[in-house]
Amino acid sequence: MINNDKIFVTRPLLPDFDEFTKLAKEVYDSKWLTNMGQKHNLLEKELEKELKVPYCVLMNNGTLALLIALKNLHLPQGSEVITTPFTFAATTHSIVLNNLKPVFCDIEPNTMTIDADKIEALITPNTSLILGVHVYGFPCDVEKIDKIAKKHNLKVVYDAAHAFSTEINGRGIGTFGDVSTFSFHSTKLYNTIEGGCITCNNAELYNKSVSLRDFGIVDENTVNDIGINAKMNEFQAAWGLLNLKLYREEQNKRKKIKEFYDQNLGSIKGIRILKMPENATNSYQYYPIVIEDDYHLSRDELCKKFNEYNIFPRKYFYPVCSDFECYKNVRGRDNLPVTNAVKHRVMCLPYYSGLTHENLSLIVKIMDK
Ligand SMILES: *Cc1c(COP(=O)(O)O)cnc(C)c1O
Repeated sequence: MINNDKIFVTRPLLPDFDEFTKLAKEVYDSKWLTNMGQKHNLLEKELEKELKVPYCVLMNNGTLALLIALKNLHLPQGSEVITTPFTFAATTHSIVLNNLKPVFCDIEPNTMTIDADKIEALITPNTSLILGVHVYGFPCDVEKIDKIAKKHNLKVVYDAAHAFSTEINGRGIGTFGDVSTFSFHSTKLYNTIEGGCITCNNAELYNKSVSLRDFGIVDENTVNDIGINAKMNEFQAAWGLLNLKLYREEQNKRKKIKEFYDQNLGSIKGIRILKMPENATNSYQYYPIVIEDDYHLSRDELCKKFNEYNIFPRKYFYPVCSDFECYKNVRGRDNLPVTNAVKHRVMCLPYYSGLTHENLSLIVKIMDK
């Protein structure tokens, strides 16, 4: 049985079109299309509640959120940032684009986040920041990282692009570290088509982020810093307001898919399912699995087999940032045994509410023989 429709790893969350056009008409009639309009400001406030953070600064994508988050900390030029190679290119790029030096630290094999026990060995007098990523929505070991940062007087930033709505012991994931960043790209659980935000706990960082996303403008007569244009427009903010009412339902549907996968894949020899730590809630962004060596196919062979059925899971993350030509001289690159083992074995399965029972059964059947 071959599907006629291609099945990808995700499908964007779409608001009701008529509701969207209603809001779009309001924007059109207001003649205020961007620059911190009404919808923009409302969405920012709603996101603060939803993410349980004191401060949220909307951005027009997650990469600019990262760039601005790092720039805001005014770290010494050329200083080192200890980070994970097991992430999307934007994480490492944001370091280098800020004239800082990435240092790759290996990952922890259960959550695939930066291995907190391997961070200290990489710290030098030139280290200024730890940049962790809550990969697949699995939280980094925020407590351990916080202790290390305090001991060595380092700043901490988290790329929370995969962790929308994740909480640790009831606390919003965006409140850990000095700054966190989110992406609202169409492939993310919650999307504003393109978009993102910075979250932080203090008014000073908030005010600086607000100014940096708008060319460094403080008021009509003052430009204080070398800012950029990272403003979200009103149409996307309207889209975001509607999707904010839908994402919980999408999560509930994905939870059912997760239960189906867990039940049917858990017993297959050589398939490892990653588990969310007990104290954290799941964002339901991805459904990652590990194809171990005792499975009858390699990850790449399994992928090929899926493709024959018109199903396209993602080898996510492969390649990893330490594989990129532009990062071949990065310190730490030669000591990433877990990352280099895992990158050939991970796979993210299709994971969105539009998957039918037949789709899911087929996915299981393909894997179970
Ligand atoms: C999606 C993503 C980003 C980049 O976000 P954009 O909104 O696409 O710019 C950054 N980091 C991670 C881990 C991501 O998955």
